[in-house]
Amino acid sequence: MMTKIMAILVSCSIGTVACDSRPAAVAPPPPTAAPHMEPSTMPTTEPDKVTHTEEEWKKLLTPEQFAVLRQKATEAPFTGKYDEFFQPGAYACAACGQELFSSDTKFNSGCGWPAFYAAKAGDRVKLVPDYSFGTKRTEVLCARCGSHLGHIFDDAPQTPTGERYCINSAALKFIPAKK
Ligand SMILES: [Zn+2]
Repeated sequence: MMTKIMAILVSCSIGTVACDSRPAAVAPPPPTAAPHMEPSTMPTTEPDKVTHTEEEWKKLLTPEQFAVLRQKATEAPFTGKYDEFFQPGAYACAACGQELFSSDTKFNSGCGWPAFYAAKAGDRVKLVPDYSFGTKRTEVLCARCGSHLGHIFDDAPQTPTGERYCINSAALKFIPAKK
C-alpha cells in the first residue's frame, strides 16, 4: 500500500519531466521516508507480539512467575507483594514489560489479590472464557505475550466501571511514577 502511494507520488513528481520513461534510479523510494508520508496508517494500536517457547520463558522468569504467567497458577491470597500496595506508578507485565495497569485504577477489594477497575488500554489485555474448576470465569491475558495475569469479575459496584481485574502480584512488575 505504502509502496504504491510512494510510487504514485514519485511518478507524479517526475511526470511532467518524463511521462513515459521512468528512470529506475528514481523509482524505489528510500524505505525510511515511508513512515513520514502517512502517519495515520502506522500500526500504533497493535502491540508488538512477544513470543518465546516455554523453555525460554522458564529461563527468563522466576519459578513463581513461570507458574503463574505460563502455567496459569494462582498465588495464595493475601501473600502477593502488591495486594496492599498503593504507591503511585504503573504495573507492567512481569513477562514482557508491557504496561498494563495504572495505580490510579487500583483499589482495595479485600479479596487478597491486587485489584484494578480498568486496564491502561483495552487492547493491552486479552479476555478469554475460562471454564476450569467447573465454573465460568473470564481469564485476563497480556495481549502482547499471551501470559496469564488473572481473572476479571463484574462485582465491584463501588468503582467507576463495576469491574474488578483480579491480578496475581507475581504477574506484575511495579514501575514507580517519576517525581
Ligand atoms: Zn506480557
